[in-house]
Amino acid sequence: MKACARAVVIGGGVVGASVLYHLAKIGWSDVLLIEKSELTSGSTWHAAGGMHTFNGEANISRLQKYTIDLYREIEAVSGQPCGLHPNGGLMLAATAGELDSLRLICSRARYLGMETEMISLEEARNFNPLIDTRHFIGALWRADGGHCDPSGTTNAYVKAARTLGGSVERFTRVLSLTARRDGTWDVVTDKGTVHAEHVVNCAGLWAREVGHMVGIELPVLAMEHHYLITEDLPELAGRAKEIVNTTDYAGEIYVRQERGGALIGTYEPHGVVWSPLKTPDDFSMQLLPEDFERLAPYFEVGFRHFPALGRVGIRKAVNGPFTFAPDGNPLVGPVRGVRNYWVACAVMAGFSQGGGIGLVLSRWMAEGDAGQDIISMDVARFGAFATPKYTAIKVPENYSRRFRLAYPNEELPAARPVRRSPIYDRLKAAGAVMGANFALEHALWFAPPGVAPSETPTYRRSEAFPVVRAECQAVRRGVGLYETTNYGKYEVSGRGARAWLDRVFACRLPRPGRLALAPMLNPAGRIVGDLSMACLADDRYLIVGSGFAEEFHLRWFSRAEPPPDVCVRSVASTLAGVSIAGPRARELLQRLVRVDLSAQAFRLFQVTETAVGFAPAILARAGFTGELGYEIWTTPDYFATLYDDLCEAGRELGLVHFGGRALSSLRLEKGYGSFNKDFRPDHTPGETGLDRFVDFDKSEFTGRAAALAERAVGPKRRFIVMEVADADAEVIGYESIMKDGVAVGYVTSGAYGHCVGKSLAAGYVPTALAREGARFEIDILGAMRSATVRLQPLYDPQGLRLRG
Ligand SMILES: Cc1cc2nc3c(=O)[nH]c(=O)nc-3n(C[C@H](O)[C@H](O)[C@H](O)COP(=O)(O)OP(=O)(O)OC[C@H]3O[C@@H](n4cnc5c(N)ncnc54)[C@H](O)[C@@H]3O)c2cc1C
Repeated sequence: MKACARAVVIGGGVVGASVLYHLAKIGWSDVLLIEKSELTSGSTWHAAGGMHTFNGEANISRLQKYTIDLYREIEAVSGQPCGLHPNGGLMLAATAGELDSLRLICSRARYLGMETEMISLEEARNFNPLIDTRHFIGALWRADGGHCDPSGTTNAYVKAARTLGGSVERFTRVLSLTARRDGTWDVVTDKGTVHAEHVVNCAGLWAREVGHMVGIELPVLAMEHHYLITEDLPELAGRAKEIVNTTDYAGEIYVRQERGGALIGTYEPHGVVWSPLKTPDDFSMQLLPEDFERLAPYFEVGFRHFPALGRVGIRKAVNGPFTFAPDGNPLVGPVRGVRNYWVACAVMAGFSQGGGIGLVLSRWMAEGDAGQDIISMDVARFGAFATPKYTAIKVPENYSRRFRLAYPNEELPAARPVRRSPIYDRLKAAGAVMGANFALEHALWFAPPGVAPSETPTYRRSEAFPVVRAECQAVRRGVGLYETTNYGKYEVSGRGARAWLDRVFACRLPRPGRLALAPMLNPAGRIVGDLSMACLADDRYLIVGSGFAEEFHLRWFSRAEPPPDVCVRSVASTLAGVSIAGPRARELLQRLVRVDLSAQAFRLFQVTETAVGFAPAILARAGFTGELGYEIWTTPDYFATLYDDLCEAGRELGLVHFGGRALSSLRLEKGYGSFNKDFRPDHTPGETGLDRFVDFDKSEFTGRAAALAERAVGPKRRFIVMEVADADAEVIGYESIMKDGVAVGYVTSGAYGHCVGKSLAAGYVPTALAREGARFEIDILGAMRSATVRLQPLYDPQGLRLRG
């Protein structure tokens, strides 16, 4: 075995094989894959080999398409067939909600360049004559997808990697990992030690154990999964083509052809966790005992929906384990605090996702950047909250919902509540309907007396619609309170804080007592954060951003290597916050503070440390509603008292609570984009409009060269807000924006603008098309609706209320 390597990939399943290939392809020929047994011997060998481009997240869909298209390439490079059956895919809907979901997929697919259409059930039967169409109301067909041979595909990756210099050690077990002072690793195996600059955990079923080797607890767990292969079906005899791979959402069943018979698998509601505490060392090329008694009712649904399957015998049954993260997406990327340690695990659809994971991870390792937005599979989307208990509850929930379509207004119930703010019970008593962000409960909307605090999952307007309207109108007319505890918060302090922040952020740093909007760029000049920065003193800053990105931003900060005289820490759990917004916000707050809040004395973006009622607090004049507004931060021990004081002071002013839904509406009326939805690492300052907060005169900041280059030629596309012809549904995200029948852009977020009386959609279109009044069309749940660009905010375009 080699004594040293640039990178050691631990695990020879389909994911490790892809990572090896991509690292070799990007030019790291000195890479070594170590596999404790035979290649594929974990969960890979017994997979059903299905591949498809469907994912709720468009960037992952795109990577899935890359994976499927890649197979021809690795076949050519390696000479090893992947056993491809590029049959395409069918998705069947049995309810109106499922049909909406298929229509949404169709609308999204156009911009992604995927061939997809809604088809009749008769056409669906032509693609798959086994379907009993009486159980369904609609179907979607997609050209991409099919199935492959798991072993052939894994070997094709490995052989292709070998042609590029990569090497493989089979039957070699990694026993431990020891970090050297310089950040490199001693990879200790049962056949000797390899010194490696980087280590990648692709250990699949053992990813948890390979995490323990460096002292981390990855949120990953294996579930048992069954599929059956039937005897030959007379219905398939003599057909020129195989049937199209079919997903039945109502039945939670997938079906594809396997030689003359069919393969049918189910994601049952009460799945079984496999090896909850430790994956056995000696598990290799093994299956698990079948449990037909438990699974019979679910397969019977399949036999009703595809009756021919029930008329023949079962040739083979497979029960095998494979791993999931709590939200079902993979865990990819570097781990904060563990230098040169990378993960590519919890991949539950290795044959759809393995190639894309290899691509982005190899770029990330070799070039310092994944090269595209992969937030949805970044390991940093989980923080300390993802404990083993959380994972043990969330993974089975996710498994049981694998084939349930996720409604945009749906909040999943398992492992809730985990993180609660000190006013959680008070907000619940005020009617709050909660969502969870980074496991922290936060209010989405407030059910008034007489309205149930719950919501029907739907792609269209729900019973919350009129309630959210009332919240929005109350904020614009009077004053509202919104809890901001779920924002990500960081304190940066020390003598070197200002100089370091000046390099890390692209904005001009605020002076003491001021707050600035603070974009953060990666070296490629793309947005990795849209935060606000309050300068409390020359050597002390409060930085606030998206709550979901806490771990992502902390990793970013640590990558920027704060010097010894700079201290960066998360204050997510040590500061709680509330925002007061509306024309009467000043009047309310002045009752609780001694500082003069008059417009001249306490201007927009001013910040001070002062008492608010009983609470020592940080008070900033800022907000996201477009109204006069204040943000107040205090420690959790004072927070309930602060809330009580605000409610008391606001009672006679008609203070209302408002939640995240109202905020989404209010901010879009003002044309404000939000990080995660509208601004992501695919976008640039010029495209987003955040260039107005970039200090191009600074001599140095991360991403400066790329941002300057963009400024010189202008952005290729622009973030816009459109007014959409009204109907009963708003855009959700990633729908294609069409011009003359061609997809020219895509939607990033939407909401009904309750105070401007318009359905609103935000998204990106080519710069040349981003003109006031320009007309587009957006397919919203199957209906083409006209969308008109509004370059000025629809509400208070001069910003008079904000500055008032
Ligand atoms: C019944 C079933 C059906 C499935 N059907 C599909 C499907 O149709 N389509 C699809 O895309 N996916 C399917 N999957 C999921 C698919 O199998 C996984 O996504 C995929 O196998 C994950 O691959 P991996 O490389 O991450 O993990 P694994 O295949 O588990 O590979 C990890 C490897 O790491 C090695 N390893 C672990 N620890 C060490 C160590 N300390 N030292 C050295 N080596 C080590 C192991 O031996 C193993 O070979 C199915 C899974 C099951 C169980």
